[in-house]
Amino acid sequence: MEYTPHSLPKETGWIEVIAGCMFSGKTEELIRRLRRAQIAKQKVKIFKPRIDTRYSDSDIVSHSEQSLPSILLSDINEITKYTEDAQVVGIDEAQFFSNEIVDICNKLAGEGKRVIVAGLDQDYRGIPFEPMPQLLAIAEYITKTLAICVACGNPADKTQRKTSSAERVVVGAADIYEARCRKCHYIPKEN
Ligand code: ZN
Repeated sequence: MEYTPHSLPKETGWIEVIAGCMFSGKTEELIRRLRRAQIAKQKVKIFKPRIDTRYSDSDIVSHSEQSLPSILLSDINEITKYTEDAQVVGIDEAQFFSNEIVDICNKLAGEGKRVIVAGLDQDYRGIPFEPMPQLLAIAEYITKTLAICVACGNPADKTQRKTSSAERVVVGAADIYEARCRKCHYIPKEN
């Protein structure tokens, strides 16, 4: 997935959102953009919600195991304690933060920062996963990452849950979830 806006804004901040299902490469794309900024010697700060403890406690890690050291936040409002001198702010797993993230991203971009947010745009039922719809609405740049349907090979944008839990958040990876296209995705029967 290439990210090539024709011209980058000058002397202003902006918001980029990377949205998609699990296994679509959202975190890889976030890491790629943040690494480019680090190589350009920009001050980069990276955050993720404390709920996501897969793989590593304090790094953002993609399923392909690329990682960057990140700061864990229990509450998105804590972010402003760390962002004062940051030029680029990365946020992973944004769907696990409250809707306050919308105002916070606007505030950070208003301070002249580049804000890059990645997250799941739909839950396991295919329902828009707040606050991602709101973030997509306020972003200047949107990237939708697609996976490949495990069942048929079509482009996939849905996360299939393979367990019968009806909780919206069940943290896991390939053992509980797989990518499915619209045709192959179904809502699991709840026990
Ligand atoms: Zn399919």
